Amino acid sequence: MCPSEASGGILTINLDAIARNYRTLGERVAPGECAGVVKADAYGLGAGRVAPALAAAGCRRFFVADLNEGLSLRKLLPDAEIAVLYGPGQGEVELFAHAALCPVLNEPGQVERWRRAGEKAVLPPAWLHIDTGMNRLGLSASETAHLASRSDRLEGLTLAGVMSHLACAEHPDHALNGEQKARFREAHALLSGIMGPLATSFANSSGIFLEPDYHGDLARPGAALYGVNPTPKSPNPMEQVVQLQGRIVQLREIDRSGTVGYGATRRVTRGERIATVAVGYADGYLRSLSDRAAGYIGRARIPLVGRVSMDLLTFDVSALPPAAAAPGTLVTLIGAEHPVDDLAAEADTIGYEVLTALGARYARRYVGDPA
Ligand SMILES: *Cc1c(COP(=O)(O)O)cnc(C)c1O
Repeated sequence: MCPSEASGGILTINLDAIARNYRTLGERVAPGECAGVVKADAYGLGAGRVAPALAAAGCRRFFVADLNEGLSLRKLLPDAEIAVLYGPGQGEVELFAHAALCPVLNEPGQVERWRRAGEKAVLPPAWLHIDTGMNRLGLSASETAHLASRSDRLEGLTLAGVMSHLACAEHPDHALNGEQKARFREAHALLSGIMGPLATSFANSSGIFLEPDYHGDLARPGAALYGVNPTPKSPNPMEQVVQLQGRIVQLREIDRSGTVGYGATRRVTRGERIATVAVGYADGYLRSLSDRAAGYIGRARIPLVGRVSMDLLTFDVSALPPAAAAPGTLVTLIGAEHPVDDLAAEADTIGYEVLTALGARYARRYVGDPA
């Protein structure tokens, strides 16, 4: 880690807040259980610190996207259940088995690969993924029916349960929610009829805020753990986790009216004061925020003016007393005053993208480590 005085930005990640968010979600899904989704390096926040903090908060089951993420997480959490959303590719079964990773089986080839391997060795249980409306990963309705039509296609397969993924859970009134629930129930009933009672996993972060019959036995939240609002039309029930501060490296009082930044998109007039901050799109501060976002110094909102550069941002600080914005002053880019969802809205994107884009150049600080 670089010394924070030497970096243009400081990223502070509150592990206690993640633990509290985990407990909040856990209470909502009880008597069901809550897993932790830590794919994409825990949504950019650092799985190496986040996953152990979740484990210390009581999380026993984790989801990652690919095999490499699973292998890294296994080194950190020797006893946790770790499920890999992509499932085993050709030639990967042994790696899964050796690291005790539970695959998510997404298509008939993976199901058959895992079933065959299970004839020769004791394997970790698999999640069977039913596609109920995403048309992305998972068995289609006809593939599910085909699988269920002959018992030898399932024989010897040990399942952790069946899962599916909601496409529109953040819109409680969307018709697809109910359709997906009905299709999932049907697939679950069909497979349970053959294999005996199977556990279910259905809700992502937003699904946890739908009716309880969307929760399933194991919910799979990611974004809400990290402070993204799972109920975008209502106040955020989650605690903010991330604070991002950028450092002012130069302060300019405009002595000749002109423009600021690339493309000369923004006029400035004599007497205005511009603070230049050492953060840019190379740090994941999206270029689409140009001329739209704001930063905060204390409670004072300072508008971003001009384009986002690779390494620099320019803010209009004319409204502040000169002493409030000087070289070295930290500008809050994400924080209590300006939550991740607000910055995402200014960039026409979602908090997920803002978090996973957070760059490697920031000095990272973890606070409140329960692990
Ligand atoms: C990413 C992912 C999740 C977590 O979704 P959030 O909206 O971040 O809670 C859950 N399930 C699957 C299959 C996913 O790909």
